[in-house]
Amino acid sequence: MRIFSGIQPTGRKHLGNYIGAVRQYVEGQDRGEPAIYCIVDLHATSVPYDPKALPGYVYDTTAMLLAAGLDPARCILFRQSDVKEHTELAWLLTSVTAHGDLNRMHQFKDKSAQQRELISAGLFLYPVLMAADVLAYRAHEVPVGDDQRQHVELTRDIAERFNATYGEVLVAPEHRIPEVGARIMDLQEPTRKMSTTGSEERGLIFVDEDEAAIVKKLKSAVTDSGSEVRRGTDKPGITNLIDIVAATRGVTPEEVEREFSGSRYGDFKVAVADAVAAYLAPVRERYGELRADEEALEAALVQGAERARAIASDTLADVRTAMGIGATGPT
Ligand code: ATP
Ligand code: MG
Repeated sequence: MRIFSGIQPTGRKHLGNYIGAVRQYVEGQDRGEPAIYCIVDLHATSVPYDPKALPGYVYDTTAMLLAAGLDPARCILFRQSDVKEHTELAWLLTSVTAHGDLNRMHQFKDKSAQQRELISAGLFLYPVLMAADVLAYRAHEVPVGDDQRQHVELTRDIAERFNATYGEVLVAPEHRIPEVGARIMDLQEPTRKMSTTGSEERGLIFVDEDEAAIVKKLKSAVTDSGSEVRRGTDKPGITNLIDIVAATRGVTPEEVEREFSGSRYGDFKVAVADAVAAYLAPVRERYGELRADEEALEAALVQGAERARAIASDTLADVRTAMGIGATGPT
């Protein structure tokens, strides 16, 4: 079982990333043979970003993943741009990617609507680069949040079309989406997902947020009409808070509903804040220490890239041969 996933270095990561993706990475690192996790700096260029800040954001995200429990001795952790096979494979995969499929992607629709100046071709091609990330490692499983379901399905389609066109080279992967907390919603707009690039600060809880800020943000989270602590399509705010408590405490949403039946919203929100603060505190503590040592972070990434390259270059050699790209040697 080979596991692969990627995470963007777009500044501080949030509770949705942590619950939807990062805790699955940690769980997967001893199951994966190997488990491969990538900080996808090339994806970060698909929307406007600050080139001076990006290298530091890569360290932020690396330190957060280590603080969460990833161990470079038990998984492969690296920076996407260090392994050039990703970009080469992305181009080669465009030959088996349908333009119409890219046009249907929810993420492209959502993010292109947010752009004021330029909708880059990179935003449109994002899912092809993501497919290349996964397929370069012939991964079987891709742990992601629910918002990436469609991209992983497209990755499968691309792999299958490649194999049908050029011969059996790639592996069509499955997504692994958590049962609880697959889509943590924005605290101020609970009908939209909590998002690094799409949410305002008040709508997000950052992984390294201190307890006072966590309490403040959760107390002012938007709730719904009515007063019952129960889930429902008419109660997106409370449903989100119930999911957050369930995920952070490792219980089911039904158990949370039972425990807080009869509670008032205000009391429930205090309990949510306590659960989230307790959940994130150990990560925040380790994060500070790890983030301070950039040399150690860089060394871990460089080492991870070497191991990643060994796998990806093997796949690329097979892809190039199958596609008739490059020299074939003397005939
Ligand atoms: P952006 O909104 O700009 O795309 P992001 O918050 O989605 O940023 P990513 O680095 O793209 O951050 O996502 C990393 C992982 O976190 C992915 O597996 C994604 O599915 C997951 N994820 C993102 N947002 C949420 C969320 N609100 N709830 C659960 N999982 C999420
Ligand atoms: Mg995303």
